[in-house]
Amino acid sequence: MRQKKQFVLAANWKMYKSPLETEKFFREFLPLEKRLSPDLQTLFFVPALNMSTTAQLLSSSKILWGAQNIYFEAEGAFTGENSPKVLKEMGSQICLVGHSERRSLFGETDLDCAKKIHCAQALGLAPMLCVGESLAERKAGQTFKVITEQLKNSLAQFDPQKKIYIAYEPVWAIGTGQVATAAEANEAHLILRKSLKDLFQNDIAEKTPILYGGSVKPENALELGKQDQIDGFLVGGASLKVESFAQIAQLNFA
Ligand code: PEP
Repeated sequence: MRQKKQFVLAANWKMYKSPLETEKFFREFLPLEKRLSPDLQTLFFVPALNMSTTAQLLSSSKILWGAQNIYFEAEGAFTGENSPKVLKEMGSQICLVGHSERRSLFGETDLDCAKKIHCAQALGLAPMLCVGESLAERKAGQTFKVITEQLKNSLAQFDPQKKIYIAYEPVWAIGTGQVATAAEANEAHLILRKSLKDLFQNDIAEKTPILYGGSVKPENALELGKQDQIDGFLVGGASLKVESFAQIAQLNFA
């Protein structure tokens, strides 16, 4: 049985919440932080327009925050993009890369992800790379092939000396209420960890947190979180309300 040192709970707010709503959320959530296990690392991926507010509110907390997307250059003539250099200056420590909504709606490729991971790491941000299969790919028995290829291609420029998080997010489970069974999720995580071992060293594979995402809710979180390969969650819908996110945060996954 694999020992988990830490459990990572990440929130993806997508394009929800104004700065005022962000302030309301953290004013309620921050007092709860003291009651959470010291082994829980909490992360928030917030919309770009809320980053200043988030940076201020979280400046004296252990909670990490970051962008849902970055560009793969530090700065330049790239209208509408988020500069990883500025994010770092603002106090961000992490960034999401290759979320399935970025891939399907904005045409982001594995090569884009590889460049973003390289740039994030070079500037001192820890990326969280998302991989996951579509329903058609799962039905065609392609799940492991798809996710291992996404992993390998997106990590083409990865520096194994630096921190990275991986999120396994089956596309058919994101925002649908349809959740992978604990066994399905654990098996996919095992495959991803084996790929990390093949691509890099054993200790990199062991220490890289692999999170599950896709309709995680207080009702299904405990069974999923107790799986030995699941080191955390990336939560969309249930992260928008303090109550549901705090309920997940207070569970004991050991
Ligand atoms: C997500 O946006 O990454 C996600 C997993 O969303 P949800 O929890 O709503 O399925």
